[in-house]
Amino acid sequence: MAYNFPEEEQKILKFWEENKIFEKLRQKNAKSKKRWSFLDGPITANNPMGVHHAWGRTYKDLLQRYHAMKGFDERYQNGFDCQGLWVEVEVEKELGFKTKKDIDAYGIDKFVEKCKERVRKYSAIQTAQSIRLGQWMDWENSYYTMSDENNYAIWHFLKKCWELGYLYKGRDSVPWCPRCGTAISQHEILTEEYKEITHDSIYFRLKIKEKDEYLLVWTTTPWTLPANIAVAVDAKLDYVLVKDKDGYKNWVAKDLIDKIFKGGHEVLKGVKGKSLVGLKYSFAFDGLPKVKELLGKDKMFHTVVATDDRIMPINIEEGTGLVHTAVSAGSEDFKLGKKLGLPLIEVIDEEATYLDGLGDFSGKNAKKHPEIILDYLAKNKEYVFKIEKYKHRYPTCWRCKTELVWRVVDEWYISMDKLRKPLEDIVKKINWIPSFGRERELDWIKNMHDWLISKKRYWGLALPIFECKECGNFEVIGSKEELKKRAVEGWDKFDGRSPHRPWVDEVKIKCKKCKAIVSRIKDVGNPWLDAGIVPFSTIKYFSDKSYWKKWFPAQVVCESFPGQFKNWFYSLLVMSAVLEDAEPINTIFGYASVVDEKGEEMHKSKGNAIWFDEAVEKVGADPMRWLYMKANSAENMRFGYTLIEESKRKLLVLYNVYSFFETYVKKEDFPKNLKIKTKPARNASPARQPDGSHGGGHSDAGGNILDKWIISKINHLVSVIEFNLEKYEVARAVSEIEDFFINDLSLWYTRRSRKRFHPLTGSGHSDSDESSDSKRQADRKEAIETLYFVLLGIAKIIAPIIPFFAEKMYQGLKLKDMPESIHLCDWMEPGSNADLDLEHKMDEVRKVVALALSERAAKSIKVRQPLASLKIKDQKSKIKGDEELLNLIKDEVNVEEIIFDGKIKKDVELDVNITKELREKGVVREVIRCIQGMRKELGLKPQDVVAVHFSDTGDLKEVITKNEEFILKEIRAQKYFGQGPQVPLVDYEFEVDGKSIKVVIYYSK
Ligand SMILES: [Zn+2]
Ligand SMILES: [Zn+2]
Repeated sequence: MAYNFPEEEQKILKFWEENKIFEKLRQKNAKSKKRWSFLDGPITANNPMGVHHAWGRTYKDLLQRYHAMKGFDERYQNGFDCQGLWVEVEVEKELGFKTKKDIDAYGIDKFVEKCKERVRKYSAIQTAQSIRLGQWMDWENSYYTMSDENNYAIWHFLKKCWELGYLYKGRDSVPWCPRCGTAISQHEILTEEYKEITHDSIYFRLKIKEKDEYLLVWTTTPWTLPANIAVAVDAKLDYVLVKDKDGYKNWVAKDLIDKIFKGGHEVLKGVKGKSLVGLKYSFAFDGLPKVKELLGKDKMFHTVVATDDRIMPINIEEGTGLVHTAVSAGSEDFKLGKKLGLPLIEVIDEEATYLDGLGDFSGKNAKKHPEIILDYLAKNKEYVFKIEKYKHRYPTCWRCKTELVWRVVDEWYISMDKLRKPLEDIVKKINWIPSFGRERELDWIKNMHDWLISKKRYWGLALPIFECKECGNFEVIGSKEELKKRAVEGWDKFDGRSPHRPWVDEVKIKCKKCKAIVSRIKDVGNPWLDAGIVPFSTIKYFSDKSYWKKWFPAQVVCESFPGQFKNWFYSLLVMSAVLEDAEPINTIFGYASVVDEKGEEMHKSKGNAIWFDEAVEKVGADPMRWLYMKANSAENMRFGYTLIEESKRKLLVLYNVYSFFETYVKKEDFPKNLKIKTKPARNASPARQPDGSHGGGHSDAGGNILDKWIISKINHLVSVIEFNLEKYEVARAVSEIEDFFINDLSLWYTRRSRKRFHPLTGSGHSDSDESSDSKRQADRKEAIETLYFVLLGIAKIIAPIIPFFAEKMYQGLKLKDMPESIHLCDWMEPGSNADLDLEHKMDEVRKVVALALSERAAKSIKVRQPLASLKIKDQKSKIKGDEELLNLIKDEVNVEEIIFDGKIKKDVELDVNITKELREKGVVREVIRCIQGMRKELGLKPQDVVAVHFSDTGDLKEVITKNEEFILKEIRAQKYFGQGPQVPLVDYEFEVDGKSIKVVIYYSK
């Protein structure tokens, strides 16, 4: 049966909205003493939501809905991440800007407003998309990291860091994006930010003073050569002097000779690296004014130095074993320089353009024109040994993908040394899913540098640092009130504005030390500060501590983990460590990334990206949600239309069971005051049906074994689901549910029970046996009760996962005094009526059936052809002697008898000898099947009464006549008497057992 997911979902969305179902749910749980605190990791409100966001949002929704059904009070607060480079870069693109100068010319105020505008636009779009996904959140109450509240909360945090002595200004060589014009912190350079890039690498010579010898050095960043200060060697390593084919004598590491020289060379002598230390050299750039300045002035300039292995280990895999050390243009270089007291030469500005004082290079861009250095060197053969293409992994800007450079700049840091230990303790208190998260986070905390928190940008947290230009003193302001108190000018220009640039920069304070007027530093904050503060800023840490205590720490956060160990998870931990020395969350539940069906990353440019809006309208939210929730959260998730179609087909199996019920059972027959007996009586003798079948094992005493079994199964299922959801094993829970409704409910229970649901009315049999009819009536009632109970149960179980589909089922099952929505129902409590013994026996029944049916298939005997017997080998079988269970096998395998026989060779064996009597039974079954098929084709409903007339039975006359009454009863048809209000519907011929039969079907009014 067809179910149009997108269309039904639209109707249900409308139903939820018009009837305020979510509001009613919140009211229902508002007084609950149980609280479940979820903390939403803010989504960047910068673009429409992608299918990867929808994965995480489905987890979030599932967990919240599940806990709501269990009666927990929840906050349902969604978050939007608003500030930072990601938004700035998009606005720059929108405005066609190339560099920061364009922003200054445009006006920072107008630019910041544009950024806010973009956030408002995309947060509205993402809200609408999330609603379409079925996510329930208190959308009116979403938090925005750009809010005053959030920004001032970070001020408070930074002030505390300053008071504790953690905040400092540092001068360092840092990774720098020349397009964005800002430092990129170590935290932001993730493995995926490294790209395979081919650069020109150069082996160049440095002439040793007063000798006819050279240092042969290799670099992959020739643009840094004017910044060369020293050459580092490993004091313990063997170096050799090699005469190359051009006659130059070069010092290189002994182990690298073969890699560097390709023949025609001669090794002259060898020494340990320490013998080279102290040698002075000259270089090609010594004539540039900035370089000249240092010559003679600094004793360490252009000297061979011994490296420190812990700072800059020298490898003998590539290069020459002598390392170009440009103190200003590399973080290891900088550190080594600091240790050895080396000077530095700054060579590029914030756009990577060569600074003044560098001769012809000044004003030219180092990254855009790397050839200018190479061309310059190539003019003199003495300098260049060789230039080679070199492919390596090189870091790029996470936002704009520009290759990074290294610059020495003043930036602001939070010192990590004192925080490492408390952070480790907090990490250990948190439950990490997947469990490797714990080790990754600990590893990061052990190795991370101090946290670089400043950015030379516009749209972001205004770092509340006021640094005195006169005396160098700096202060951190911790709140708006404090700023107002300290303000000596500009408050009027700022008042009423958000604490952003440029408005907040109007406010000046007075230096506590020298009384000079002090401005805020121009920098904005690292955006992870914005998201890290939310366990405080969004839960009223400052305005209502008792409320905050109720909700802190959160039970769980649920985010895509790639990247977050260094970013959000990290910033949450740091801020919580400083403010409360406590874990902000009990569980960090991370999930991986979404990839396409082939396992490849989705990219607009690759053409394999799928847009959320397109997918949800094409296939519906529920099939997507089902696919998401069945994925292993620890691994990359494959997403695509083939897979969604598969998930849709699975859901339709459940829908078909539901619609079978709806077709055969009228609403007035739904059980009222449904009470499923916990332990129905068993061991009753089964009643035989006229055709010798057992009607699905119905017993007179009530308590059909299939009913008992499926009820046991669903009770058992609920416990399994709860167990897995408590552990965030969502995929396992969902797979169990799917297995239940496909294999247990559809393929076994419903299929084996179909007949029990057929209406009894209108059979019109003259000799209808009243007591048999009332038995069937009772059995039907029981079957209806059972399936109703199971369908209602499954609707509850799937409600948190596929809320639309569950609602659809529920609305069809709902009776007057039941809650108006499935989402206002309580979770299905696992009953005490799980019967493991029965479940195991049923497993065995199904195993035997599967073996017997494959035996039939192997011998090409149709299941409709009854056979005399099935032998089962296992003498210890638990089902031996259990008539009800054996009857299920007889019916399913279509055999007359089951014999336990330890002597047979295989586990089961079929008697395949078809006697005349058996063949006759087969014919009768086939006739029934054909007429039923025609009934269906004519579009008749089960309750429609027809009359059937066998107009020509040919060779099968004897069989038909003998069994006519039985056949008519089975197909719920009257006999045709050639009179009365019977309208012929169809007159047709079909073949059974190679012989033809003609039949007329009449409609009985
Ligand atoms: Zn950039
Ligand atoms: Zn001062």
